[in-house]
Amino acid sequence: MTRIIEVPDQITVGALAEKLELPVASLVTELMKNGMMITVNEKIDIDTANIIVSELGLEIELKSEAQEETVVQKRVMSDAADAETRPPVVAVMGHVDHGKTSLLDKIRETDTAAKEAGGITQHISAYQISHNDRLVTFLDTPGHEAFSALREHGALLTDVAVIVIAADDGIKPQTLEAIRFARKAGTKMIVCVNKIDKQGADINKIKQQLAEAEVMPEEWGGDTVIVPVSAKTGEGVKELLDMILLVSDIEELKSSHSVPARGLIIESHMETGRGAVAVALVQEGTLRQGDFIVVGSTYAKVRMLETTAGKAINEALPSTPVQISGSKSLPEFGDEFYVVANEKLAREAASVGGQKHSAAQTGMTSSELLRIISKRTSIIEFNVIVKADVQGSLTSVIDSLKPLDTEEVATRVVGSGVGSITENDIITAETANATIYGFNVDSGTAIKQLAARHNVTVKSYKIIYELLDDIKSELTKRLPEVIVDTDTGRLVIKGVFRTTSNEVICGGEVTKGKLTIPSLAHHMRDGQEIETVEILTLKSGPQDAKEVPKGEMCGMSYKPTGKADILEGDHFEFFTREVKARSL
Ligand code: GDP
Repeated sequence: MTRIIEVPDQITVGALAEKLELPVASLVTELMKNGMMITVNEKIDIDTANIIVSELGLEIELKSEAQEETVVQKRVMSDAADAETRPPVVAVMGHVDHGKTSLLDKIRETDTAAKEAGGITQHISAYQISHNDRLVTFLDTPGHEAFSALREHGALLTDVAVIVIAADDGIKPQTLEAIRFARKAGTKMIVCVNKIDKQGADINKIKQQLAEAEVMPEEWGGDTVIVPVSAKTGEGVKELLDMILLVSDIEELKSSHSVPARGLIIESHMETGRGAVAVALVQEGTLRQGDFIVVGSTYAKVRMLETTAGKAINEALPSTPVQISGSKSLPEFGDEFYVVANEKLAREAASVGGQKHSAAQTGMTSSELLRIISKRTSIIEFNVIVKADVQGSLTSVIDSLKPLDTEEVATRVVGSGVGSITENDIITAETANATIYGFNVDSGTAIKQLAARHNVTVKSYKIIYELLDDIKSELTKRLPEVIVDTDTGRLVIKGVFRTTSNEVICGGEVTKGKLTIPSLAHHMRDGQEIETVEILTLKSGPQDAKEVPKGEMCGMSYKPTGKADILEGDHFEFFTREVKARSL
């Protein structure tokens, strides 16, 4: 009997394989046989999926369902027969300087497990702590853009968003942005009012502001939990962790340990002696040392599996952030990874991914295509090279540039990479007439001197919004100015006194508005413009005049273009012209 399975109208190959309980590789192979080079993360439509299902000889019919695929993925994960409760994945977001980093550090400090594993290290993009004998995974997202980029990759990565608001500062634009974000992503939200140790901390004011932003606090009858904390003294941190666990319990986060592992890359960088190192979050299944994984267009034998604190482990369960070394090249932020049976399969799947990938990179993006087919005058480009400390930040920065583009000006990334600014970057920048932007990377004195010698501008930022503001102002500078003409008055010609090639002197009556000087005028006859001229002088009687109002007679001289003569009865429409700078 034919089984009916409900799927979304568009489904990723990975999700379809899961639904069909088939290995992803066999589905990819079948698609290839049908001439479709499609990777596990790409979507196919339900009709294609049905064709493949019948080609495979399965007694299954796929029916469309209304829900979004992401929701389905989540349900599938939690419905698997052997699904077990998994730790929540928490992203901390909010306005700069409101204490995100301090809070994450404090949480890590209070965790005994982290201390045993070697204490606090420098920047870690994800880590796990234990609270009340339960694990919680924190993501230190370099910006909301990163969160957004991850969402774009179709991942239900974050279970809980903690929105940090400084009690002495209140809601700021980035706070609102974070709230909008969590809402759009359908992520549970906890508001953390930080810096309550400070004078001037006013929780009630913040609740008021939240209510105005349509985030109603629980104690005011809404459903948003508000936890006051001090990342400085540690007050409230325990309550925040309790609340995170409570919220996740309601969500019933579950995932199977027994299926082949899959998850997402959240950061990657090159390390001397170790090669490509990726930080990945296991979303489902158990990832083991020695597993073969396919990651976007590359693959790896998991040579070393470590916690993000650098402790070697043999296996990682769902919601665990891990460091993986052994991949052939640098995986990309947001890439999905999945375990396959052996190296051959990994290589094959990655090469299919690679072909698609390189096509995507050399191929044109739709906005570029639009620009080309657009009839408008050609776009002004601002060339940049972006360097960042980790792959996550790099992707964030680059992804955040696109929305700044307009039909007239756009940023073009002519080079990008993880790591410090190099001599090579300077040379490329000089050739491409590009500005180099460093995000969380430094350039040494030698590089600065080299840049100066080659007339290359290098700008370094530690805060993404400041970097973006700078790019925005560069784009603004390049925006073509607008010319604004304002009509001022009309002169009807009653007499022509002298015409030379440089000057025409004539007189008439002001019949509308007033004439001023300096001014330009459209020289009109029978309703047609015959030339546009610059007015040289206005005379009221024998005197030079700055202004002549309606109803008065006056003389004027103008510079003719040489294209037209002047007759009695012609009129001049006076106007002023301003060139205005524009803003984005
Ligand atoms: P981020 O930009 O959101 O990551 O903010 P940071 O964690 O870097 O904090 C910004 C500033 O606020 C730093 O100077 C912190 O020391 C300070 N800060 C953070 N949390 C608290 C707090 O709870 N109390 C006080 N008094 N200062 C804090």
